Amino acid sequence: LIMDLLDLSRLESGRVAIELQVTDLVPPLMETIELLKPRNPKVTWNLAGIPATCVTLADPLKVKQMFENLVGNAVKYSPAGGCVSVRLSIADDEVRFEVEDHGLGIPADQQALVWDKFYRVDSSTTAEIEGTGLGLPIVKHIAEMHGGRVTLTSKLGEGSTFGFCIPCKTV
Ligand code: ATP
Ligand code: MG
Repeated sequence: LIMDLLDLSRLESGRVAIELQVTDLVPPLMETIELLKPRNPKVTWNLAGIPATCVTLADPLKVKQMFENLVGNAVKYSPAGGCVSVRLSIADDEVRFEVEDHGLGIPADQQALVWDKFYRVDSSTTAEIEGTGLGLPIVKHIAEMHGGRVTLTSKLGEGSTFGFCIPCKTV
């Protein structure tokens, strides 16, 4: 919690610069998935949408933070399990990342709010799951620092697809 708070306030203050390097996004993504697998053994994984490599100019540590938060949420908000699909691609000079779950889903009127600091969806099911509401605002900041944006489609009771797009730059 403290680390997330510090991270977010640093990001918000504009004091952190991103350190762009030629980065293959696949290794940090795979490391994140392997780390998260034991957290919810009920989840089955579809990783067919992850290519062998995906190279762009990015800040590797910050991109990993986005993967950890988004894939972490997919696992955490799928208490009954189900398939989590992870996709990464480059098209139209854009890197696109998506993680789709078949978990709780988010009511339409709260979908825009989940990117706000400390916002947690108001439901008895979510209340049983621990969290602070800092992960998604951190992801949004990092995506925007890369010149990108975050994406979300969700249906209550059916699941969610969270993602980000960042411009694909090469040197
Ligand atoms: P943390 O700070 O530990 O990440 P958190 O997971 O509650 O806490 P966010 O990651 O910012 O915070 O998510 C905000 C809220 O959005 C969550 O509390 C949850 O209600 C909802 N949410 C996020 N991801 C999902 C998902 N994959 N499925 C359903 N609800 C989600
Ligand atoms: Mg979270």
